[in-house]
Amino acid sequence: MTQDAICIEALRKTYSGKRGQPQKQALKGIDLTVPRGSVFGLLGPNGAGKSTLINILAGLVRKTEGKVTIWGFDQDANPRQSRAAIGVMPQELNLDPFFTPRGALEVQAGLYGVPRKDRWSDEILSMVGLSDKAHAYARTLSGGMRRRLLLGKALVHRPNILVLDEPTAGVDIELRQMLWSNIRKLNEQGMTIILTTHYLEEAEEMCDEIAIINHGELVARDSTANLLGRLDAKAMVVMPDQPVSDLPTAPGIASEHRGDGSIVFRYQGGATTAEQVLALVWTAGITIRDVKTEQADLEDVFLSLTAGS
Ligand code: ADP
Ligand code: MG
Repeated sequence: MTQDAICIEALRKTYSGKRGQPQKQALKGIDLTVPRGSVFGLLGPNGAGKSTLINILAGLVRKTEGKVTIWGFDQDANPRQSRAAIGVMPQELNLDPFFTPRGALEVQAGLYGVPRKDRWSDEILSMVGLSDKAHAYARTLSGGMRRRLLLGKALVHRPNILVLDEPTAGVDIELRQMLWSNIRKLNEQGMTIILTTHYLEEAEEMCDEIAIINHGELVARDSTANLLGRLDAKAMVVMPDQPVSDLPTAPGIASEHRGDGSIVFRYQGGATTAEQVLALVWTAGITIRDVKTEQADLEDVFLSLTAGS
């Protein structure tokens, strides 16, 4: 039996075109494993196929081809067990307006066959900060509250794997922090987390491992640290004492002005040292008021991998 939380083999999804629309190959043969206990980020531009992949895991979209194993259960052979292992917070805010938050959690628990003694609706409400709204009608909840309730609904059956589809898209900073802290806490308690996002900052902050998909294909799969290390680009930002008109350059060192009067020197960390860059600055007669270096961030990695789309 596999130790992976999720194992995806040769997964394909082709949406049949409706009303004269052409067919759409949303996933073109994805192989991917997600280790147990990780916070795993699924990244990609809009239309890459992230939601399609998530919804196949959740049993909401039927795959066209391939094999999906969830917590050791083949999705086709053991649909019930594989469904029980996973909880999904969907991208859309689809809530039944006639239930209170507490009612919605109880109904969801019922759907998953959770016996009353094993239910933890009140704890969930407290965790997502909705205790005081336990008996309010869903239609009176703000967007942020609905999102927190959707997170709560994904947890009723204490799944081994929690999947979040763009959990913080369009939410304010306060709610984002709250969702992040909920996610971290659940992960510390042993839950495997899979989240999709197009906020690279979120992936960099939250995820141990990252897969990047583009046009339905996997273009990268690595630890966050390795992905960031892949691009060896470095930048040194120098704030000169006096305005500089002629920018110094040297082989392997490019320079440009920034709007705030500073100069950015770009170089490859493996080929050029910071000392060589500083030597270039001194040789040009520039006195340094302030200096700092910058690493390539996930955004640079992402852009280089999805360039041309
Ligand atoms: P993402 O979540 O990465 O933005 P999606 O999985 O939602 O991407 O979509 C992947 C591709 O599949 C897109 O081109 C989208 O238009 C198409 N698609 C998604 N859902 C459907 C559907 N129900 N019918 C037809 N095409 C769809
Ligand atoms: Mg999506």
